[in-house]
Parts: sequence; C-alpha cells; structure tokens
Amino acid sequence: MKKTTGMNRAVTRTWRPATQAVRGGTWRSEHGETSEALFLTSGYTYDDAATVAARFAGEADGMTYSRLQNPTVAMLEERIALMEGADACRAQASGMAAMTAALLCQLSAGDHVVAARAAFGSCRWLVDHLLPRFAIQTTVIDSADDAAWEAAIRPNTKVFFFESPANPTLDVVDIAHVCGIARAHGITSVVDNAFCSPVLQRPMEFGADVVAYSATKLMDGQGRVLAGAVCGSEEWVNDVLLPFQRNTGPNISPFNAWVVLKGLETLSLRAHKQSENALKLGQFMEDRLAGSGTVMLHPGLASHPRHALAMRQMDACGPIFSVVVPGGRVQAHALLDALELIDISNNIGDARSLMCHPASSTHANMGAEARAEMGVAEGMLRINVGLEDPQDLIEDMDRALAAAGL
Ligand SMILES: *Cc1c(COP(=O)(O)O)cnc(C)c1O
Repeated sequence: MKKTTGMNRAVTRTWRPATQAVRGGTWRSEHGETSEALFLTSGYTYDDAATVAARFAGEADGMTYSRLQNPTVAMLEERIALMEGADACRAQASGMAAMTAALLCQLSAGDHVVAARAAFGSCRWLVDHLLPRFAIQTTVIDSADDAAWEAAIRPNTKVFFFESPANPTLDVVDIAHVCGIARAHGITSVVDNAFCSPVLQRPMEFGADVVAYSATKLMDGQGRVLAGAVCGSEEWVNDVLLPFQRNTGPNISPFNAWVVLKGLETLSLRAHKQSENALKLGQFMEDRLAGSGTVMLHPGLASHPRHALAMRQMDACGPIFSVVVPGGRVQAHALLDALELIDISNNIGDARSLMCHPASSTHANMGAEARAEMGVAEGMLRINVGLEDPQDLIEDMDRALAAAGL
C-alpha cells in the first residue's frame, strides 16, 4: 500500500502541508525506493497490441509517450497540486512555457484580456506583442487600482492575468477582490504566483481559477533548472489545458521535474527563512537610508502602500524586494559593483542572495517608456535574499551603500 499512498488523494488530502511537501505524489516502483525514481524515458513498451489500443482509446490506465505522461513528472504534478490545494496540475518546461500555455490554451481570436501593468518582462511581452498577433485584444491596467479591473471589462473579456507581488515593483493585487470580479463576469483569472510559491500564498483560497508558476524560482530554489507549472480545476486542466499541452509539447524534462521534486521537500523551510532574512535586511536598509531619498518597495515593511493586504494574503513577506536609489542608473550600478557577498544576478528564489538592476536586465527589452509606465525606475534594484547569515548580508549591503554614496 505504501508504494502508492502518495498518489491516493483520499489519504494525501488529509495530510498537513509539511507532510504533503515530502510525501505527496510519491509513487514507488516495485523496488520500493525511498527517493522518487527518475524515469528518464521518452516512450513505453506494451505486452501486446490490444493494450496499446486500449490505452490510446483511454479505456486502460498506463503511459503511452512522455509528451502525454511520465511517472516522474506525474509525481511532481501531484505534489504541486496538493500544496496548492488545486484539483490538478501540469508541469511545463519553464515559467514562460507555463504562462504561454495558461493563456493560449483558452484564448481565441476576438477574445479580450485584462492584465496588470506591472509584470515580469516576458509576461508583458505575451500581453503586448504575442496575443495581439493572433487578434486577441489586451488592456493593461494599474493592478492596485481596484476599480480599474471592472472598468476594463468588455463583452468579449475572457481572462484576467496578474502577478502578486509583481516583478520587480512589488505591486500587491487584492486577489479576492479581483478574482471575485472575474467570477461574477464569467472571466477566468490566471495568477502568476512565482514570487510566493504555494507555501507563502495560495491564490485559489482567494478565488483564483488558474495559478501558474515559474518553478525555476522558489520551488527549485537552488538555481539549477528551469521549470513551470499550471494548476486548475480537473475540468479546466483536462478539457482546456491538456489538449493544448499534449499537442504543442511545452513539457518539462523528467530530470528537471525530479530536481524540482527534491526542491519541494525543503521549500517551506527555505521560503520562511528567506522571508525572515529579507525582512531583517529590508528593515536595516529602511533605517540606514532614512532621509536619503531612497524608496523601499517591500511588502513586509509597514511603508509598503499595501502592507496590510499583503500580510493578509501571504504567510510571510517572501524573499524578494526592491529599492529605488535617488542617483538613478549610475548609482544603482555603483551599488551592485560594490557588493562583495551578494551576487549580481537576475535570478530569484535562489538560496543565495542575488541582486540586479531590472532596467538594464530583466526589463531592458521593453523600452524606457513602458518601464516608466509600469514603475521600473532607472534607480531600481531588485534583491533576492537567500539563506546566508543575515548579519553578513547587512554588513555587505552597508559597505556597498557607503561605496555608492548612500
Ligand atoms: C521568472 C518569472 C517568470 C518566468 O519564468 P521562467 O522559469 O524564467 O521561464 C514568470 N513570471 C514571473 C513573475 C517570474 O518571476
């Protein structure tokens, strides 16, 4: 029995989150291995031709081809679904494969999408450039303006798409409010939850229909692989997402799925500890920089315009925050160059502390005008706080701020 317990929803649904994170989805082979097996296979063999026919007809369980099913990928999908509180999940090759699948699987020419203005650069590219090429209309709004969502609805609006907190401005969306408007109008809400992971924020508890992930970030959490995931109801995943995914093939490699499975075992510990460290470093910087003209964008600090809302929606503040230095790009680059411990890197969710200048990296391609409109200032720096001793991070930051003239 223990071989398949991790796949038995009647049992796993009763487990508490910490148990789900290490055992949910575990599906042991006849060898009874403790760690999940890596099935690095593209295809499957059959005992006889009738079995093939039955599986392809959907009349018998069993795998047919790894673009459709893979045991290692299935374990990851089941574990993420349990942690999210979702009926179903399908893993993708990257966060952007997940976002693209979550949108294109349900949209057709003539549909309309309302999206948050502040977003990861490639998410904005989907909204601004890809969808319009297929005659899908898009409207971009200030996601913190609660009235703007309803005002943007047209008779053909099919999807609301947003992140919270957003990359890299840390804009916080009132998830229950926005998803409630979507429900009332028959619109599907798609929430990119990359900044939180399911251990810090579960948008479905606030009424989200679809939750999409870059699992590259906190879920792997150790800077190793690209990965993504899309969660939804059984019906939506089977009827809407799967036909798209199976025929277009944005699938994750079983190897990468296995790496993320290992990451999920420690996700809660890392996400909470990194949030704690991010709060300590953020508080230090806010005190240290008082009166300098620097702006802190940190959902865990009382100075964030939506601090109370963020703390209601999130279990902790998360590892990522931004700071806008008054001296623009020159001062931001000087600060990066003066860091000795914290790496210059545009990844997030990693166990190492990493810092980047979005205007010249993650948000460089969208152009100055779009950056200004979404609030990505020339002096903005985004930091991912890792698992190092926070005192070492504070000392490194203190030294770098002084070197940059702050
Ligand atoms: C990184 C990121 C993505 C893209 O994920 P990849 O795994 O890099 O493809 C999408 N949305 C947000 C909010 C991100 O931070």
